[in-house]
Amino acid sequence: MRKKTQLIHGGISGDEHTGAVSVPIYQVSTYKQDGVGNFRGYEYSRTGNPTRHALEKLIADLEGGKTGFAYASGMAAITSIMMLFKTGDHIILTDDVYGGTYRLMSKVLDRFDLEITFVDTSNLDSIKAAIKDNTKAIYVETPTNPLLKVTDLNATSTIAKEHNLLLIVDNTFSTPYWQNPIDSGADIVLHSATKYLGGHSDVVAGLAVVNSEQLAEDMHFIQNSAGAVLGPQDSWLLMRGIKTLGIRMEETEENTKKIVEFLSNHPVVKKIYYPGLLSHQGHETHKKQARGFGGMVSFDVGSEEKALRVLEKTRFFTLAESLGAVESLISMPPKMTHASIPRERRLELGIADGLIRISVGLEDVEDLIEDLDEALKA
Ligand SMILES: *Cc1c(COP(=O)(O)O)cnc(C)c1O
Repeated sequence: MRKKTQLIHGGISGDEHTGAVSVPIYQVSTYKQDGVGNFRGYEYSRTGNPTRHALEKLIADLEGGKTGFAYASGMAAITSIMMLFKTGDHIILTDDVYGGTYRLMSKVLDRFDLEITFVDTSNLDSIKAAIKDNTKAIYVETPTNPLLKVTDLNATSTIAKEHNLLLIVDNTFSTPYWQNPIDSGADIVLHSATKYLGGHSDVVAGLAVVNSEQLAEDMHFIQNSAGAVLGPQDSWLLMRGIKTLGIRMEETEENTKKIVEFLSNHPVVKKIYYPGLLSHQGHETHKKQARGFGGMVSFDVGSEEKALRVLEKTRFFTLAESLGAVESLISMPPKMTHASIPRERRLELGIADGLIRISVGLEDVEDLIEDLDEALKA
């Protein structure tokens, strides 16, 4: 099956009992047993639910992995994955991971003495230098937020295998339509399905896919024990969103290319971060491991005052956090997602005072460009 076909016919599609072409929403908590311990595949909906199961099968197929898991949010997925580790284990993470992941690792899981090192994983030597005797995993986001830094997945997987480490990849930005980290050697792939997979700003959800029988068993044990599961209604909404992921990502790609071209020629714009640009530091690596560049772009307009004025003026780019939906969104990382990082450290990381981040949606691109043009003139 090719990608767009798989989005519609992958996993479990429809209902074999009635012929319904959409998977039914099994709004149920428990299941009648035919005798003690003799149940028909499902016993209790935390352990397993047919609607959630259909979604879990679908994401496993889309990522080319063994088993999928659906959670109440992206953070619930990440937390559940981290429960694979124990006190004293060491994990290496990308230094500009999603803010929520940073908070979970540094302010919650540190209570359990999980040892964490943040490194620039786009530099393979930094990864190698951080490996210690108790290192158990490398956790990577590629491309990252907001500077779209790219990590070489194949090379990182080679390092992980040499040292017997798990490679975990947050694939939220690229989606399984453009990038399949398991093909590049990842052991676990995860998504904030709240973003592109759902795609309509109407559901919060997380997904994970593992690539071995043992990991599948461990992850199911944790999912059932910790219970951070996705409900049947949201599982259904997510499957509905995923059906159109292909055409949404294709259209996003087209719109984004045109917007990047417009921004590249704009005198107010000092620098653009987009993996599709030849000048982007990770362009070649990204092209090797992904089929598209996505809809996330950051650009520097030189000063905080200018950036604030742009954000006040846009009409079709909605000022909001999050990304990956049909509506275009605009935000200012130094004042919003990355405001908790001290200014000096922020500048060191390359997040300038005038940095703006956009998530390109599916409006007419002419409207989006006119909107940005007006706002940049302000
Ligand atoms: C949003 C996001 C998360 C967290 O997901 P939630 O669904 O908001 O819990 C994790 N990683 C990345 C890259 C994200 O963008």
